[in-house]
Amino acid sequence: MARKWSPNLEPETLAFPIKPRRHEAFDSWLNRLTVAHQVRRSQLFRHLQIDPVLASLDLARGQGGLDPAQHSACDEMVKRLAWAVEVDPEQIMAMFVGCEAGALLPGPHRRYVCAQCWYEAQRAGEPLIVCREWILRASWRCRRHGLPLSDMRTIPSDARGRQLQAFLAYAGIRSRKLLLKIRPNAHARAQNNAVLDYLIALGNWEGLAPPYPAYQVRFAANQYHFAHDRIAMLALAHSSRSYSARRFERMIAAKLPERPLPGGGTKPPVRGALRLRTCRPSKPKSTWTCDIFALFAAYGAVQQRRDRERELAVVFACLDRFPRPAIAACQPSDLLGSANRTVPGETGRCR
Ligand SMILES: [Zn+2]
Repeated sequence: MARKWSPNLEPETLAFPIKPRRHEAFDSWLNRLTVAHQVRRSQLFRHLQIDPVLASLDLARGQGGLDPAQHSACDEMVKRLAWAVEVDPEQIMAMFVGCEAGALLPGPHRRYVCAQCWYEAQRAGEPLIVCREWILRASWRCRRHGLPLSDMRTIPSDARGRQLQAFLAYAGIRSRKLLLKIRPNAHARAQNNAVLDYLIALGNWEGLAPPYPAYQVRFAANQYHFAHDRIAMLALAHSSRSYSARRFERMIAAKLPERPLPGGGTKPPVRGALRLRTCRPSKPKSTWTCDIFALFAAYGAVQQRRDRERELAVVFACLDRFPRPAIAACQPSDLLGSANRTVPGETGRCR
């Protein structure tokens, strides 16, 4: 029998009262909170006397994504989190999105971010956040920089400082290359912006007709996250070369055959992601070809360098045997000259 959760300790405010950022998604902020305190989400909720059942649920849509029986627990969660980090509950509520569940990316895919935004934030010492609109399936570009988003699931877990900066810089370069190859047309961009605004905050559109119904049917709950490169496919779909994206849409919409089971009956098909690994830097291509003369020249250069190092080693070995005044009388050119040169005060050769 499952043990019923019951609060029995006095809750305490958090040691690191990390404030939500503007446009930040709820999951992004909660992740920053748990990472800073080095706890799991369930541990954090227990500490704040929030129903721990909520820790395993998708909270991106707030009450809208929960069973009506859990609405009061969600309200309590908002109040306690706001109290724990000393902000207004409205600031917590503002991180939820108002769209339908089908318009959100699946949880593990909510790592598409603007590399340029993250690069600038990292350089300014600000937190790296995931914006609310970036977790939507229809979102594929940063409206501030106009760049396609980058998949940050491949970011090294221990990357810090300059290593992280370099990773973000390369991701930004790849985004720019993608934009050079696939130019979205202005009308498609405008449609995308309007629909994203609508999906993020449905309440603001009360009394207004939903924008671009045909566009919404095609993109609001699209399945491009099954593609090897989701962002490139969405960029294609918003460009004048959308026929490739159309082909993918037809393929992914095709019904898979049911799997027959040994004891009879069939199992409904489950479509998995084609490939999750994206945004990985390509291997550097070498332009070197087998030139035997270049190889001989390289070998000669290495041999010369080795001889020079041997000569220097002999000079330093000799200097250790002489008193300091004798060394002080030497010119730098003498010390770094040939090992066969005679050192002042010494009649013989240094060997
Ligand atoms: Zn950006």
